[in-house]
Amino acid sequence: MEHMTIVRVREGLHARPATQFVKLAKQFDSNIELVSGDRAISAKSAVKLMLLAVKENQTVTLRATGSDEAAAMEALISFLENPDAGLDTDTGHADANEPVAARPEPIAAPEIASSDGLKGIAASDGLALGPVFAYFPPSLDYPARSLGAADIEPEILRLKAAIATVQARMQASLASGTLSTADQGIISALSDLVGDEVMISEMIETIRLGNDAVTAARVVTDGTAAAFANMVDVYFNARADDVLAIGRQIMLALLGKRDMDLSAMPQGAILVADDIGAFDLAQAPLKRIAGIICGRGGATSHIAIIARTHGIPAVVGIGSAVQQLAEATELALDGEQGRVFANPTADLRADIAARLTRAKAELEDLSRFRETIPRNRDGVVIEVAANLGSLEEIEAARESGAMGVGLFRTELLFMRQKTLPTEDAQFEMYRTLAESFHPNPVIVRTLDVGGDKPVGGIHFPHEENPFLGWRGIRMCLDRPDIFKPQLKALLRAAVVGNVKVMLPMVSLVDEVHLTRTLIDECRRDLDAEGKPHGTFQLGVMIETPAAVFIADALAREVDFFSIGTNDLTQYVMAADRLNASVANLNDVGNDAVMTAIEMTARAGAKAGIMVGMCGEAAGNPKLIPQFLAMGLTELSMSPSLIPRAKKCIIEALSVD
Ligand code: PEP
Ligand code: MG
Repeated sequence: MEHMTIVRVREGLHARPATQFVKLAKQFDSNIELVSGDRAISAKSAVKLMLLAVKENQTVTLRATGSDEAAAMEALISFLENPDAGLDTDTGHADANEPVAARPEPIAAPEIASSDGLKGIAASDGLALGPVFAYFPPSLDYPARSLGAADIEPEILRLKAAIATVQARMQASLASGTLSTADQGIISALSDLVGDEVMISEMIETIRLGNDAVTAARVVTDGTAAAFANMVDVYFNARADDVLAIGRQIMLALLGKRDMDLSAMPQGAILVADDIGAFDLAQAPLKRIAGIICGRGGATSHIAIIARTHGIPAVVGIGSAVQQLAEATELALDGEQGRVFANPTADLRADIAARLTRAKAELEDLSRFRETIPRNRDGVVIEVAANLGSLEEIEAARESGAMGVGLFRTELLFMRQKTLPTEDAQFEMYRTLAESFHPNPVIVRTLDVGGDKPVGGIHFPHEENPFLGWRGIRMCLDRPDIFKPQLKALLRAAVVGNVKVMLPMVSLVDEVHLTRTLIDECRRDLDAEGKPHGTFQLGVMIETPAAVFIADALAREVDFFSIGTNDLTQYVMAADRLNASVANLNDVGNDAVMTAIEMTARAGAKAGIMVGMCGEAAGNPKLIPQFLAMGLTELSMSPSLIPRAKKCIIEALSVD
């Protein structure tokens, strides 16, 4: 039998309603299909159902054949016609993370402790001493096998066992009761995907063609993820990440490996990793981390920036020696000198303990600058502001004496979740931020992501050079569906706080014009929607050489400049900021970069607009006097650098 109906489920059959619909369909023995246009899919596969992208008010046909077809038809049609169907937050718990992985037992302590230790790149000041927490997520490298006829059935059983293992792990973490509601939702959705009938039968078919189970899991999940990534609807794009995540879990189970979980990190440990994504690090229990040592990365990599924000000493770019360090029992690190000591001797431990005591005293001394408001000889206030990436960092910024926010990186908000944040969610966030610092300014940077910093819900094409590619303002202007909700949220937040907005990666004056046109459009939309909105100053980051060369023209179009020395240095010096082997070139103090900064300051002064800096160099006491001499009146930095920077500014201005 078949029945045609109009789907009334609010916002259509996206992930949650789709998985609920499939659960309901599975309660019946009948063969059930959903038909939309010329496509018919099994109603028992959430993946196929999501790929069908059925929208609210769309006409579909339900077909059922089998002993309980009438009952199935009645239940499923009433689901489709119910606006609230599938929107409950039922099921329970789950954990996107694997169950806690134990830290590998330390192997015999290597004898690499020397008086100089190992040299890496100094990424975040401070000393640390503590036990090792090695974070090396397992790789999925494996030798692909082709199977003979006799191997096929055992391989299918192996696949099924691996899927059962993954499901059991997810159920265990759901049952643990330790997950936040948001995490429960994520794991629930993933757990439903792992058991998707259609994906499993596609994997089995791939094995029957003579491929091993790992290859089958990879081929099917990669293919399904690509199908989601190519859908027009950004919401469904984000399902690509879910499918890849479960593919990884199935493959790991087949290879007898487990993922690692940073939440297992003990208090006061030193995190040792070859590489760690900024997003993973931001999710880690940062308060428990005494220090960070990373094989890759440079001083302005986002890992280094997060470490500085939270005042965690860090050494990065240490290279392959990181593997050896991971085997030590205890590590000491000096984030200022960029040195690491494995299993430090008693003398070294005593030395570090004494230096830690001195550092604590120095910090206490610096706290007297907390309320200081520096002014230059003309009486102009020098704003010493904070660079933040999340609301959780507000407290650290206020405690350090930040006079506002000079850079709020909005990408973490986007990277944190599987789908794009709504205008309302963004409004809440920007409002909280603005209120926390009112009446001081908060400068919010519009979304700065690209192929190297992907975001759930945006499909980025593969690029040979993501740092030179479709990122920042370039991507936003091409995607008003992403850019406008952010601009609207900022216009709304401007009602309650001193919000300023700046654009990343600008290289053309036209990018400012196009943004202003969009802002006008957003204002009209908000008027039509009856939502109150204010105005904000619009500035640009100066972080491409092009922006420096057209700084005079840009200055006539915007309210302020903020110099992004992290990117400016990499583009001026043609030296990848993440590549430790060109770290010597990645030096802001180089004449070429300092000249670019001076040119920018001069263009800003000529046009009478504020020129600030939000790259990491803004907190460098060795460079601050030169930046002040160039006329910069705002320096924005990781909160932990603020007290020392204020002292340095006061001293520089008093000898001026
Ligand atoms: C910069 O490039 O200097 C900057 C502040 O932005 P980000 O480090 O986020 O690229
Ligand atoms: Mg930048």
